[in-house]
Amino acid sequence: MFEYAPAPESRDVVALRDSYGLFIDGEFTDGGGVFKTVNPADEEVLAEVASADSADVDRAVAAARRAFDTVWGSMPGRERGKYLFRIARILQERAREFAVLESLDNGKPIRESRDIDLPLVAAHFFYYAGWADKLSYAGLGGARPLGVAGQVIPWNFPLLMLAWKIAPALATGNTVVLKPAETTPLTALLFAEVCQQAELPPGVVNIVTGAGETGRALVAHPGVDKVAFTGSTEVGREIARAVAGSSKRLTLELGGKAANIVFDDAPVDQAVEGIVDGIFFNQGHVCCAGSRLLVQESVADEVLSSLRRRMSTLRVGDPLDKNTDVGAINSAEQLAKIRELSDIGEAEGATRWSPSCSLPDRGFWFAPTVFTGVSQAHRIAREEVFGPVLSVLTFRTPAEAVEKANNTPYGLSAGIWTEKGSRILWMADKLRAGVVWANTFNKFDPASPFGGYKESGYGREGGRHGLEAYVK
Ligand code: NAD
Repeated sequence: MFEYAPAPESRDVVALRDSYGLFIDGEFTDGGGVFKTVNPADEEVLAEVASADSADVDRAVAAARRAFDTVWGSMPGRERGKYLFRIARILQERAREFAVLESLDNGKPIRESRDIDLPLVAAHFFYYAGWADKLSYAGLGGARPLGVAGQVIPWNFPLLMLAWKIAPALATGNTVVLKPAETTPLTALLFAEVCQQAELPPGVVNIVTGAGETGRALVAHPGVDKVAFTGSTEVGREIARAVAGSSKRLTLELGGKAANIVFDDAPVDQAVEGIVDGIFFNQGHVCCAGSRLLVQESVADEVLSSLRRRMSTLRVGDPLDKNTDVGAINSAEQLAKIRELSDIGEAEGATRWSPSCSLPDRGFWFAPTVFTGVSQAHRIAREEVFGPVLSVLTFRTPAEAVEKANNTPYGLSAGIWTEKGSRILWMADKLRAGVVWANTFNKFDPASPFGGYKESGYGREGGRHGLEAYVK
């Protein structure tokens, strides 16, 4: 086992309160109920959080409508941009506090929340702040904002998903009611404090915490003009049905089962880093995770033995330890799902391997795992595990790699590892995936559009395309 000295980040940088309210019309208020959010690394209750019922959702939508009609919808873009710049700067100033809170509530390693999530969150606000007074350059000169956006997000990148949703909506002149996931409400509520600090007009951003019922009430609310959802394909389908027949605009960012394709000419060390990053980043709680490794048969043994060596060096444990590579699974429910699909993988005949690592006694943990001897019919090759579990398949020719990569109901992302530029272009054209990475994986930039084909959803977020979803 790999030994290392712990380097804990201090949790004292976060002033955790015992209870948190909803954020409606610029103020924190009680809701119809309460729920608890826990630290997945030790199951300790972090705080009690207000749960919004349909009357609370009504209040939030009414506040958003008022703010749209009276200030935000008609404010010149350059003024809206100033607020977004201010929010971006405050997020940078308070980045450490946000990163620690994100790791506490979500379980992700502090190294990731500090070096990836928070910089990207601020970058999204800076990026869309820049567009606010330049919509005509985006070909949207005569466009109008839609009105009130109802936004529902998942727990895997709580603050980053909030930024993806709120920044383009505000830049284009919409107001927002956002519902964070029930296991990770805290950074959204800290963001509400940032809105106050930036003196954003009341009602422009409203945060309603709660479970699926709160999301359901928001999506169905007649005062919502646009629904933006990121989450599971199953809930996405339900939302599409709920919105069908109304005049609401809809974007859906759903699940994935990405292929990470390694050819025999790829530098092995670099590809192995990309495989590890592709599936173990954020415990594999990533919609675009490279959860299917497709490796060319001639180099499969070499790549797999190098991968096993690298996996043996992964440090699994305390999310607040700056050395940790793989943190806690976000919830008991998610852990149960990962265990179930992994057990099915074994029962269906695939070979399971994990490095030896001692997992903490309390909390929700799952060791990085790789399955070999996987066939395309196996459930672990078809279903989204949303955990640190990699399924390995092999191929002989580029055409076979494309066929296997596309043999999935999803189509969010894919990765290609090869020295041949012509092969990258040929593959990228054939792969039915919204994002194709070449010789890298899980790289994000606010200027790049992101979104899926098939059951991974529709519409694009990010970049200039992300503005189009919020105007008419
Ligand atoms: P989920 O669908 O269970 O929940 C997502 C959000 O929807 C939560 O806030 C939840 O409370 C809410 N919700 C649940 N039922 C609802 C309903 N009937 N109506 C309205 N809202 C409802 O998903 P999750 O488990 O939180 O997140 C994991 C999923 O999200 C994975 O499938 C992952 O691939 C996907 N995801 C996709 C992207 C992307 O950009 N494509 C990004 C991140 C996560």
